[in-house]
Amino acid sequence: MENNASYVLKTRNLKAYYILDDLGKKKTVKAVDDVNLEIRKNEIYGIAGESGCGKTTLMKTLYALLKPPLRLIDGKVLYYRDGEEMDIYALDNEERRKLRWEYIAYIPQGAMSIFNPVLKIKETYRDFLDSHLSGKTRDEIFEIAREHIRQLGLPLKVLDSYPHQLSGGMRQRVAIALAALLKPAVIFADEPTTALDVVVQRGVVQLLNEIQDGLENTIILVTHDMGIHANITDRLAIMYAGKIIEEGNTDEIFDNPLHPYTKYLINSLPRFGDRGSRVSAPGNPPSLANLPGGCSFHPRCPHKMDICEKKIPELNDQGNGHKAACWLLNGGEGKDEGTS
Ligand code: SF4
Repeated sequence: MENNASYVLKTRNLKAYYILDDLGKKKTVKAVDDVNLEIRKNEIYGIAGESGCGKTTLMKTLYALLKPPLRLIDGKVLYYRDGEEMDIYALDNEERRKLRWEYIAYIPQGAMSIFNPVLKIKETYRDFLDSHLSGKTRDEIFEIAREHIRQLGLPLKVLDSYPHQLSGGMRQRVAIALAALLKPAVIFADEPTTALDVVVQRGVVQLLNEIQDGLENTIILVTHDMGIHANITDRLAIMYAGKIIEEGNTDEIFDNPLHPYTKYLINSLPRFGDRGSRVSAPGNPPSLANLPGGCSFHPRCPHKMDICEKKIPELNDQGNGHKAACWLLNGGEGKDEGTS
């Protein structure tokens, strides 16, 4: 029997599509297409890829935050809590509410949406704790909030501020602090450093690192910024056109990227002391509503072969859990068009 003791989350052939009505014609946007993840306890797992590759939709699907036109088409999202396997899509609303924040927490892009703009931060803390910890007085709750803010090294004055009075970086750090408040086993952070300057980004990354160290939990970090992945993540998945096309230990991926797309992502990073020009992938990512046949990267790939246009390469283990989906590596049979 499969041992799931070291995992917090697995997905099985996960598919989540946007089903759009385009002037009476149904249009399918394959944002998450056949994704299989196995995410461990006590790791920072990164998900990288260009804008529009499906990263944020994957996060929402893992957190069961689907709203039409986004639909779960197939597959499962399984969480492991105290030895018990839970399919998040099979839980009733109350079970799912309890799972969220207490076991899994989500920091959305921009973070502003988790604050009530007319409440001071301490009132947001109170609302949050009220709904998850019963029987605490107002003073006890504010003391918990103060202690929490203090522990994370944030200034206490943020509690008496309204969200709009905080800088973007401080607001992001408070959002991260709130997400960590109930010591969840999994924290999802969606582009937590976007639109912040480099110095502020460092503070946000450091806070995520400290929280993960302290709680020994799992952080699933989505960002297009490969430099941040190199700094903070233990394992990394590269997403392209709704699929994971490479996955492995972060150091191994940076030392020995296997997929041509990953190589472009890494080669486009600036390097200290290197004044040469960086090369990014030619062309643009495909529309998820109109994907090219076979390997979705083939229109941009300098190594394209005949088979690449016809068959989808499988994500295969190339050794030590380093997986990649590319015909240069996969000598065997791939998936025929339309079977994925
Ligand atoms: Fe390039 Fe073919 Fe590999 Fe796709 S499968 S990345 S087109 S070589």
